[in-house]
Amino acid sequence: MKALTFKRGIYPPHGKHYTENKPIEVLMPTGDLIYPMVQHIGAACEPLVKKGDHVFLGQKIGEAKAFVSAPIHSTVSGIVKDITPMLHPNGTKVMSVIVENDKKYEEDPSIGMQEDYKKMSREEIIEKIKEAGIVGMGGAGFPTFIKLSPPSEKKIDRILINGAECEPYLTSDYRVMLEESERVAEGLRIILHLFPKAKGYIGIEDNKPEAIAKMREATKKDVNIEVVVLKTKYPQGSEKQLIYACTKREVPSGKLPADVGCIVQNIDTVVAIHRAIVRGRPLMRRIVTVSGGAIKEPKNFKVRIGTTYRELIEAAGGFIETPTKVISGGPMMGISLFSLDVPIIKTSSAILCLTKEEAVLPPEKVCIRCGKCVDICPMNLLPLSLNSHVLHHEWDAFEKEHGLDCMECGSCSYICPAKRHLVQSIRTGKKTVLLNKKK
Ligand code: SF4
Ligand code: SF4
Repeated sequence: MKALTFKRGIYPPHGKHYTENKPIEVLMPTGDLIYPMVQHIGAACEPLVKKGDHVFLGQKIGEAKAFVSAPIHSTVSGIVKDITPMLHPNGTKVMSVIVENDKKYEEDPSIGMQEDYKKMSREEIIEKIKEAGIVGMGGAGFPTFIKLSPPSEKKIDRILINGAECEPYLTSDYRVMLEESERVAEGLRIILHLFPKAKGYIGIEDNKPEAIAKMREATKKDVNIEVVVLKTKYPQGSEKQLIYACTKREVPSGKLPADVGCIVQNIDTVVAIHRAIVRGRPLMRRIVTVSGGAIKEPKNFKVRIGTTYRELIEAAGGFIETPTKVISGGPMMGISLFSLDVPIIKTSSAILCLTKEEAVLPPEKVCIRCGKCVDICPMNLLPLSLNSHVLHHEWDAFEKEHGLDCMECGSCSYICPAKRHLVQSIRTGKKTVLLNKKK
């Protein structure tokens, strides 16, 4: 069957060869654990502990006080060493709880209760997901319990699991599908239990045939689950593009997937749901790819949230040359880091250590009006025109041309022969328009 896809898009080199055949290694932390009270979209958590307190593994240490927020748990047992602003992977300073690991890994009595989700009510499942602090682990960090509680008028009939992993270099979701396929399948069954009229889809790009086979095997008895083969194209894994590829439904400008009957979840998020509901464990770990030409032994790690990026890089053998750029996330949508002493948070999918050849952004030249950026924009925008509006501070025109719909995928910058810094400029435009609205 022909691989499904969306309109437009680009074909960047994969760079997945570094780690795609590296099984996930469990990495135990050696230093202190840092827990920023913001690891999600929404309001910051409030610390529930104070300096000198003893904490257990799995104990809630950050309370969500607003609706859009998600609690934070300690991933080790030990002593709270400090509560102070610390550098966050996003480059800002965020109030953080620092825990000195006693290496005993004593569990909080509240965790580990095994339950049969089929006997649980919808409310009980949603509450457990909320209390487990689960957020979208594909990068957005939106609290999962909210996504799974759409207003009653939204008739959800499609649950889409994003196994595309279209960002170059990233292989953490791929390894999870190979090594934890049963958990992915069971996590999806739990979500389908919440939406009994819905059908489940697991979308995987056609450059991952082993993952397609594994997930088909794990779901072969599920009549309401289909593994969908997607064309290998960027940004195949973004929500609107995945929905279009799997269902041919288009999410209108300013609307959400639930408006077209869909909910999209990331692979690792689904495993976190399984762990929370079936094994009673809050979100405490994630799979992280450490890769790039500057790293000695690129690997995939299973790591406790709170471990520093530096520890992961050391566990991957350190650098073979000084990286020109270190990125948290993928090369297209990730954030450049200026310190390695920041913690892995719930949304950290990868650490890329790129050489000069891999990272250098050539100087901008004059636009030659070739139209390539327009041809490939998956959101059907006019990147060259949006860039011009930003440069001339034409904020009304920027908004009129749907600049806020830009998902910052970076495809336009990638394709531009004049190397215009399009996504950077459009990002600035979005921030300015949103700020002006607030004022
Ligand atoms: S791709 Fe670059 S050079 Fe071509 S129209 Fe767009 S901004 Fe101009
Ligand atoms: S304008 Fe935005 S959505 Fe379109 S290609 Fe550029 S970054 Fe992607």
